[in-house]
Amino acid sequence: MKWQRLLDDTLHYVRPQLGQGVVADYIPALAAADPRAFAMTIVTLDGEVFSVGEATTTFSIQSISKVFTLTLALEWEGQELWKRVGREPSGSAFNSIVQLEHEGGVPRNPLINAGALVVTDTLVRFSQAGAIDQLLALLRGLCDDETIDVDSTVAASERVWGHRNRGLAWFMKSFGVIRSDPNEVLDAYFRQCAVAMSTEQLARAGLFLANEGRDPITGAQVTSHERVNRINALMLTCGHYDMSGDFAFRVGLPGKSGVGGGILAVAPGVGSIAVWSPALNRSGNSLVGTLALEQLSLRAGLNLF
Ligand code: GLN
Repeated sequence: MKWQRLLDDTLHYVRPQLGQGVVADYIPALAAADPRAFAMTIVTLDGEVFSVGEATTTFSIQSISKVFTLTLALEWEGQELWKRVGREPSGSAFNSIVQLEHEGGVPRNPLINAGALVVTDTLVRFSQAGAIDQLLALLRGLCDDETIDVDSTVAASERVWGHRNRGLAWFMKSFGVIRSDPNEVLDAYFRQCAVAMSTEQLARAGLFLANEGRDPITGAQVTSHERVNRINALMLTCGHYDMSGDFAFRVGLPGKSGVGGGILAVAPGVGSIAVWSPALNRSGNSLVGTLALEQLSLRAGLNLF
């Protein structure tokens, strides 16, 4: 039970810090989250699940969805996707528009909002069953759990307060970078942000990222080893917006945050880790979640470097 002890010790270490940071307040559904809530789960490659805290409570995965939509978009569009989205850290806030005009409407990477909108544009264009249905099918399949769904209250609020994302989508449409109807892309984007999952589900869903693209439990090849290497490289360099360098420095693992307070981290060859704590740092990443990952990485010797 090495992992259980490590998780217990991690919670013990971070507990005094719970409540530090600020809960996202741009929509009421997120503002209502308890800033002191905490959960952490590791699923190892042999399928063992270890958790501390509220690991079955669902929360809004928000930008963590960008990892799964990217996985689908790369399957469907392949290399062509890189003509419309870059692979460089942005050094800017998650919803920034500043670089886009200078760079021909091509976002820096797929893990900031602008880039994720391009990815979702691919989903809208290529998916037979509809972008969100395909995303849900992927997540439900990975977790063997049909209950995973979009929180419709959060999705409705995202739509009401989504002015900045609308700006990004229409701006990129003017450059021809977004190919389909921006309204359709935005509708799918708002709903992908509103998918609700627990740390147990999220860690389970991310397991293929730690195992060369193959789900070690079902044996399903979710994506190729080469693509997973790329997705992990992007998570490491771009997964935390303008604090991606800080996350890589402190944790040393690929990770993707969301403003709901979740982070999915990948320990290649070991397992997949999800943490949730809703109070955020200045870049919109879970403050205590980052601290917990830093501690676990240190204690378990997970740092890739
Ligand atoms: N729904 C948020 C947005 O699009 C997601 C951002 C995030 O999780 N960083 O602005």
